[in-house]
Amino acid sequence: MKKYKKILITGGSGFIGSNLCRKLLQDENNHIICLDNNFTGTIDNISDLINNPRFKFVEHNIIEPFNTKEEIDEIYNLACPASPKKYQGKNAIYTTKTCIFGAINMLELAQKNNAKILQSSTSEVYGNSKEHPQKETYFGNVNPCGKRACYDEGKRCAESLFFDFNRIYNTKIKIVRIFNTYGPFMDKNDGRVVSNLICQALKGSNLTIYGDGKQTRSFCYIDDLIEGLIKMMLSNDNLTGPINLGNPCEYTINELANIIKEKINPNLKIKYEQLPSDDPIKRKPDITLAKKILNWEPKTTLSCGLDKTIKFFSS
Ligand code: UDP
Repeated sequence: MKKYKKILITGGSGFIGSNLCRKLLQDENNHIICLDNNFTGTIDNISDLINNPRFKFVEHNIIEPFNTKEEIDEIYNLACPASPKKYQGKNAIYTTKTCIFGAINMLELAQKNNAKILQSSTSEVYGNSKEHPQKETYFGNVNPCGKRACYDEGKRCAESLFFDFNRIYNTKIKIVRIFNTYGPFMDKNDGRVVSNLICQALKGSNLTIYGDGKQTRSFCYIDDLIEGLIKMMLSNDNLTGPINLGNPCEYTINELANIIKEKINPNLKIKYEQLPSDDPIKRKPDITLAKKILNWEPKTTLSCGLDKTIKFFSS
């Protein structure tokens, strides 16, 4: 019987993917195939892994089927632009294709290999939520015609495909809904609030807040999220999810900006700009299910996680 595990990670050179590759390689039994077309990811994120004999990078766009003779045991399907600045606008159709064709191609691969497949879904499936905090049972409030829909509806359709593969072919699926995550290897140019504010503060620029800054998000440090992803993958085959993974500590964007300002330079000014359309007003995960079933909850405080992230961006 083979001792090692072959794990395919789509989006492996992105923010979450590169952190996941790095963590999984700590186990000597794991062999990683990292699939990415570097649309939003970058080789720089995995430059320290490239020479590891148990790591292989393959440049590939999951909109196209991925054919391999390797016997895959687990697939983490993470590939998709995830920042509003990158997934909308001229990339919108590409985003939907990545969500949907990417899901179909990876589900077919999982089915062929009898592999487990984990889908990185998102808190965006809840849209501008009318329920607070958001539980997995909430069906969501998404504007299907809005600018965010390419991502939100793409991810919702991917969930539906996962469940249909499970019902029709018994494919071993796992769905996690990831809430706002931050930490080292975030792309400094992708427009997310944490990376924007830290980079602006380090440069001594004004901090940009969209709208009145009273909208809320709950920020999860990357190492905590990675632990949750791996726990979900290793859980019993009949645990399909969906399951929320996020940090339930909720902050307004004003509060976040003030914390970052205090840490880097209290004299910086805040510049208020227009709120993007369909920007959710409140977001906070209910993680009762993750605590109960996965025995998982985030351990890193926002202050501690921001310190580590500021150190990463400073260097
Ligand atoms: N945001 C902000 N300033 C920025 C970037 C984002 O005030 O420089 C706001 C954005 O409008 C949203 C929140 O911060 O209300 C989180 O934005 P992000 O793009 O990080 O994630 P998402 O909207 O997908 O949760």
